[in-house]
Amino acid sequence: MKSLADIKLASANKSMNKPIYVTQPYLPPLAEFIPYLEKIWDNKILTNGGPFHQQLEQALCDYLGVKHLALFTNGTIALVTALQALRISGEVITTPYSFVATAHSLLWNGIKPVFVDVDPNTLNLDPARIEVAITPHTTAIMPVHVYGHPCDVNAIQKIADNYNLKVIYDAAHAFGVQDEGGSVLRHGDLSVLSFHATKVFNTFEGGAIICPDAKTKQRIDHLKNFGFVDEVTVVAPGINGKMSEINAAFGLLQLKHIDGALARRKEIDATYRQQLVGVKGIRCLNDAGEKLVNHAYFPILVQPDYTQSRDALYQKLKDHGIYARRYFYPLISDFPMYRSMPSAQHANLRVANDASSKVLCLPIYPALRPHEQQRVIDIIQGA
Ligand SMILES: *Cc1c(COP(=O)(O)O)cnc(C)c1O
Repeated sequence: MKSLADIKLASANKSMNKPIYVTQPYLPPLAEFIPYLEKIWDNKILTNGGPFHQQLEQALCDYLGVKHLALFTNGTIALVTALQALRISGEVITTPYSFVATAHSLLWNGIKPVFVDVDPNTLNLDPARIEVAITPHTTAIMPVHVYGHPCDVNAIQKIADNYNLKVIYDAAHAFGVQDEGGSVLRHGDLSVLSFHATKVFNTFEGGAIICPDAKTKQRIDHLKNFGFVDEVTVVAPGINGKMSEINAAFGLLQLKHIDGALARRKEIDATYRQQLVGVKGIRCLNDAGEKLVNHAYFPILVQPDYTQSRDALYQKLKDHGIYARRYFYPLISDFPMYRSMPSAQHANLRVANDASSKVLCLPIYPALRPHEQQRVIDIIQGA
């Protein structure tokens, strides 16, 4: 028979080994959500641009400091629709170092992605390499603010202006990110956010397009509602991209808690940096200093002079119940629907391939406790 002490020890061990994932969705107290549900049950408006949808669009414009924003059912449909809204066709220059939805949104529009390598410091699209990839078929550039760190927006805009190209930012990581002039989402022709469960700000599933003028917003609103402009008129082969009232209501509640969630992320980021800066062979990416970033991810690059390989460290963490992610690995350009393209060849994407073989995203989320973070740090320091 087990003694009480044994049982206590076992349960202590069990809680010590509680798995730690790379992220955990932020959820406000359930009780705070009930009044929103009661309103929906009361007015029986479930979707189609209802009151919560309208309130969240306005609240996000205010919070983010942008002029116009159209909510979507998810970020991928928003990307697909953004390309439709600007009537993009032919070839679009984009990055292989992103989540696969970036390039998939192009294929869904019959557009050919042309991959360009990334900058070794930011891992964002390298503006110096864009120009040589432009052909007579190029119509747009789709960069990604990777890990929420702003692209070189001025250099990209300059090239776009010179060649008369549109710029659509995949800003799925960039909720709340600011530069000297305000929200990073104001750059380019359109920016697209994701509110997926794993993102800094979530509505379970959700997304948005940020656009500079009311006319574009109206076109986007038509496109996300089958192309309807009134009861009997359909002006485009639109899609169903509408966010439901339940997701929109949840977003309004999330907004009340977002500043606290971002502050906690900032602390976790600072602790990782402090503890890992002296570890030989570990490079922390993108120290933002006092800039307004969102600490959506904590990527490290495992260098050849670390005591073991990136994959060995990944496995070691896993053996200790810590589920870091190799994000982004594989590169988009290595997936079967892309890898035969000339621009997908490794020789064209040396920096992205190198980063992809070294990167590991460590757990970061508001509910991560200091002793849990210490478990992660101890393994990396002691490996
Ligand atoms: C999450 C993500 C998307 C897709 O967003 P969903 O809301 O999940 O459809 C697109 N691009 C990037 C870079 C992402 O991280």
